[in-house]
Amino acid sequence: MNKGIGVAGIGGRMGLLVADEARVAGLKLAGGIDRPGAAVPGDVALLADIAALAAASDVVVEFTHASTVQAHAAAIAAAGCAWVLGTTGLSPEDEAAVAEAAKRVAVVHAPNFSPGVNLVLALAEKMAAALPGDTYDAEIVEMHHRQKVDAPSGTAVGMGRAVAKGRGVNLADVTESGRDGHTGARKTGAIGFAALRGGQVVGEHTLLFAAATEHIALTHRAFDRRAFASGAIRAAIWVTGRPPGLYSMMDVLGMS
Ligand code: NAD
Repeated sequence: MNKGIGVAGIGGRMGLLVADEARVAGLKLAGGIDRPGAAVPGDVALLADIAALAAASDVVVEFTHASTVQAHAAAIAAAGCAWVLGTTGLSPEDEAAVAEAAKRVAVVHAPNFSPGVNLVLALAEKMAAALPGDTYDAEIVEMHHRQKVDAPSGTAVGMGRAVAKGRGVNLADVTESGRDGHTGARKTGAIGFAALRGGQVVGEHTLLFAAATEHIALTHRAFDRRAFASGAIRAAIWVTGRPPGLYSMMDVLGMS
């Protein structure tokens, strides 16, 4: 790495930790961006915008807001630097913009950068393949801090995708989320989502397979956001200098 790591959203909960973990790893911080008026660390160069950050960095690590994704994808692709994207709540159009950028630069996009969650995702796919959807109802329950703006969480959606993949179905075709009122009976093969919000919970996810005769639950609890920040730095080191493409945290961890 020559120019160093740029941090988009450097004043945020994740951005501050990413900058800290970069220092711990002995990496150079090329700079950061945030919204005007955000409280950002004084010892990192604050740059004007994503284009300036991308030009100054080997790799941009980003935890901001879904509304930034399309513009940031275009700026990063134009600058030719690598991108580690952790922002969640992306629309299909946002996802398409990320895939477009990945034709020109190397991108690691993951709903969750913790090694433990990625192991859970791999297990979820295997379990779903072994536990048929007409017998084992898959339900995903997540809880996060009161400030979280999107639901279900990116990790919960990732769990849903893993279950859908294991069963050879499209997640969009089988999703049941935000149940309220007279919803009718659960559809056979549905993948259900429920989101709890409160306090300062860093992230809790449970994938439940519920049959008439037994329940199997897979739970991950994150106690410290550093699990995500150190994983993002690991991804930043891994992706720098890679050929263009859309990579996952499974690729970074050698689990794909
Ligand atoms: P946060 O609100 O504390 O921080 C977001 C930061 O981005 C803020 O400082 C905000 O000012 C800044 N920002 C917003 N719009 C911007 C723009 N246009 N340009 C520059 N900066 C901008 O939120 P957070 O808890 O740090 O989470 C950020 C995102 O990361 C969320 O989408 C969250 O769900 C996701 N997240 C992902 C993982 C993962 O492992 N993939 C882990 C934790 C959080």
